[in-house]
Amino acid sequence: MEAYPLNCHPRYFRLTTHAIPASQSLVSRWHLPLGAVVHPLAESPDGDEVPVINFGSAGVIRCRRCRTYINPYATFADAGRKWRCNLCALLNDVPGEYFCGLDASGRRYDTDQRPELSKGTVEFVAPTEYMVRPPMPPSYFFIIDVSVSAVQSGLLEVVAKTIKSCLDELPGFPRTQIGFLTFDSTLHFHNFKSSLSQPQMMVVTDLDDVFLPLPDDLLVNLVDSRHVVESFLDSLPNMFHDNVNVESALGPALKAAFMVMSQIGGKLLVFQSTLPSLGIGRLRLRGDDVRAYGTDKEHTLRVPEDSFYKQMAAEFTKYQIAVDIFSFSDKYSDIASLGSLAKYTGGQVYHYASFQTPTHGDKLKLELSRDLTRETAWESVMRIRC
Ligand SMILES: [Zn+2]
Repeated sequence: MEAYPLNCHPRYFRLTTHAIPASQSLVSRWHLPLGAVVHPLAESPDGDEVPVINFGSAGVIRCRRCRTYINPYATFADAGRKWRCNLCALLNDVPGEYFCGLDASGRRYDTDQRPELSKGTVEFVAPTEYMVRPPMPPSYFFIIDVSVSAVQSGLLEVVAKTIKSCLDELPGFPRTQIGFLTFDSTLHFHNFKSSLSQPQMMVVTDLDDVFLPLPDDLLVNLVDSRHVVESFLDSLPNMFHDNVNVESALGPALKAAFMVMSQIGGKLLVFQSTLPSLGIGRLRLRGDDVRAYGTDKEHTLRVPEDSFYKQMAAEFTKYQIAVDIFSFSDKYSDIASLGSLAKYTGGQVYHYASFQTPTHGDKLKLELSRDLTRETAWESVMRIRC
């Protein structure tokens, strides 16, 4: 870092090799694939905060042709009235508001005061042209499996307590929205209207043609409905105490969540314990075929079998929804298929094989808290220019 102050910190962007071949003949003998680990919005290393730049009326300074952002490797010319893009070499005009004179070596006098000209990592405040719509309230929707295996493993209690302990730290206060859907062989919607003293549960049994039993109040403002949400989380561990249902209608539950969330997007957290067995998205036990292990057929077990989850993921991303999967099965669970949901939506998969609270409770608590309270980007697009 000290040797190359203009480079970004490897915490944000790191190549897989320290050196790159400089000639064609070296490339042909190199045989190593070159990759980069890109980690935008990573926590700042050593408290070294990323500077935030607001160009105001000048607009974000970018190359007219290739859209590269102004950066420390851009050079200035024509007494400071032009800047040359370091990627495509186009000579761009410097907006009047951004003009500064050059010293004898061609360096702008203000270089050291401007982080975008002297640091490898900066944040630009994006004006409205960069947004598809005004920023939506950050929203969190939870789909929770309450079939017998989920109840018996004790995970409901850990999940409910952890979510409750994170309510004050969810990003987006006071606009944060929250909602819950529980399911086994049917879908249970919960009404969190702020005028209620405790939530009302509505059961939908039609899995082929999922509909929302209420137009509003399934996803609510956390501040307004805080007491209803807390009452729900307090009662969740016991609500399904005597449940003996062994089925899972995860696919229809995902459809329902999509209908609830599609207006504003947000984060969808799925807690899944029983292999989806009813309605769309049913999965079968295919991973228990031990004969495939160690053979050239083994890789097929890692490939998604059901296209439903990939299609659903495409729908979710289109509507700015990211899906995290928490999987707890004590039997085979088709993570290869379920994982598509997280893979294509910028989410994450957490797997706790044969979850039992004494063994995995702390791990779940830690990972779920972090997932809920970490720095989170909403409605974003990632591009790499090189
Ligand atoms: Zn350019």
